[in-house]
Amino acid sequence: MQKRVRIFDTTLRDGEQTPGVHLTETQKVDIAKALEAFGVDTIEAGFPISSPGDRAAVARIAREVRSCEIAALARCVQADIAAAAGAVKDAAAPVLHLFLGVVQFTPEDSTRAERTFLRQCIGVAIENGATRINIADTVGCATPREFGALIRDIVQFVGPSVVISAHCHNDMGMATANSISAVEHGAGQVEATVNGIGERAGNAAIEEIAVALALKGIGKTRLDLARITNLCRSVSAVTGVQIQPNRAVAGDHAFAHSSGIHQDGILKDPENYEFVPPSLVGAPGHRFVLTARSGRSAIAYRATTLGIALTPEKLAAAYNEFILTADASRGAVPDAVLDSIIVQVSAHDDCASCIVAK
Ligand code: MN
Repeated sequence: MQKRVRIFDTTLRDGEQTPGVHLTETQKVDIAKALEAFGVDTIEAGFPISSPGDRAAVARIAREVRSCEIAALARCVQADIAAAAGAVKDAAAPVLHLFLGVVQFTPEDSTRAERTFLRQCIGVAIENGATRINIADTVGCATPREFGALIRDIVQFVGPSVVISAHCHNDMGMATANSISAVEHGAGQVEATVNGIGERAGNAAIEEIAVALALKGIGKTRLDLARITNLCRSVSAVTGVQIQPNRAVAGDHAFAHSSGIHQDGILKDPENYEFVPPSLVGAPGHRFVLTARSGRSAIAYRATTLGIALTPEKLAAAYNEFILTADASRGAVPDAVLDSIIVQVSAHDDCASCIVAK
């Protein structure tokens, strides 16, 4: 029986701290509804004391998004807490997220804190009613082994009645790995953002965590993984933060194959070169990028998609023509160009001569 892992999304709070990103109230509500449909447990909707606009957006999300918890961030000062509490008061399940204690508490910069002092702070927060403790690697300085050891230590210290959460930043590219290590060492919640957007190098990416938990059997969530591709693309479109092409799960190249050996392997069985099935995350499927590293299998396959069965001679001729084109273009050959090569070659009466001619 897999353990249940809670997913706390902070796209609208930490994610909106991405340099250059500012979302309108309507955009925030739209993203919150997509996150609700995706199945996150908690949406951190904003930091209400920061601006009247953010406060209004949090309040509207609290009224309109009813099937998950709505959290608001506050520093441990009266005005912040009043603003946050006011903004989420109409939510079906309101959460106050205090950093520096009541429902969820984050000791900021936990990974660099002196361990005895960190335990004292957590103890005070729990005595005063905190039911979740969020361990933050605020500056992204931990490795998976270090972060896992810290989480195990805190889980032992607080006991089973308190949920330990992980909030990881990606300064060394380890936010997702650290989040998974946290779950493996006893954390019951992870905080993440869509596309890993957030301060500096960003936060742990919700799509990567969701796939890793599911495919590795590490934890069970409520997430509808088939929504991932559309969710990632719509957050990218709304925020203006492009998804790096080679990014895991959501990148444009995540299911694109370029080498002839890989293309041939994929045609025989996708598992040969795809650990993450595109259909799992709602992606359209794998895609072949045709370059001078591609081989005959991909060309034969492309011909079959055009309804053309190439004889071995014609395939050889089409391949020769394609390779010359690919070398000359020094990049990917557009599908339309390959298609025209295939169509021309298939119309030849005799390919023996064109092979010789090359
Ligand atoms: Mn953060």
